[in-house]
Amino acid sequence: MFRFTGDASEKNFLRQVIDKSGQNLLECLQCGKCSGSCPVASENVPGPRQLVAEILSGLKDEALSNPLWWYCVSCGTCMTRCPVEINMYEVATALCEIAQKEGVQPSEPDIHLFEEIFLKSVEKYGRVKELRTVATYNFRTRHFLKDMDKGIILMRKGAISPFELLKGWKKDPRVSRIFEKVRKGGQGE
Ligand code: SF4
Ligand code: SF4
Repeated sequence: MFRFTGDASEKNFLRQVIDKSGQNLLECLQCGKCSGSCPVASENVPGPRQLVAEILSGLKDEALSNPLWWYCVSCGTCMTRCPVEINMYEVATALCEIAQKEGVQPSEPDIHLFEEIFLKSVEKYGRVKELRTVATYNFRTRHFLKDMDKGIILMRKGAISPFELLKGWKKDPRVSRIFEKVRKGGQGE
């Protein structure tokens, strides 16, 4: 089992993640309930159980290059199902801070651009305009046909509409005001 058994740098990394996240990863049972319910875990993105195992083993490079914590959408499903209530969102945030401090590049190089486009849509319209967001992202990254296959499936199922790109959208000033307050350091509404 994993415990504070590695060399000094391995133990330091584990202690650093525990302290920053406030999550006692030493209680992890490696049961895998989190991975079984995580919406972003896939063939290419390992589930939270593996990330916790890497941290507990002191595998700093592996943990910092694990794409899960970049993709984590902070849905909290893992914590809801975890028998010891480990909150992976807090762990993901701690890893993000450590990675930024140490100059580790994101596993998805354009992830910050996506974040910027996503938040602009929310600020302007009060919600994400999915097709517009993805089209802008694909245009700016010059990957014009990226995820086109998935888009066609979503259109067929009626989840998104191609007319979203054509029609004008009403802006929502209430949400814009919240963003403005946060920028100024105030509280949201
Ligand atoms: S659900 Fe909790 S205890 Fe189980 S593997 Fe995930 S983090 Fe560990
Ligand atoms: S909070 Fe993050 S790690 Fe946990 S289930 Fe949601 S996306 Fe997965």
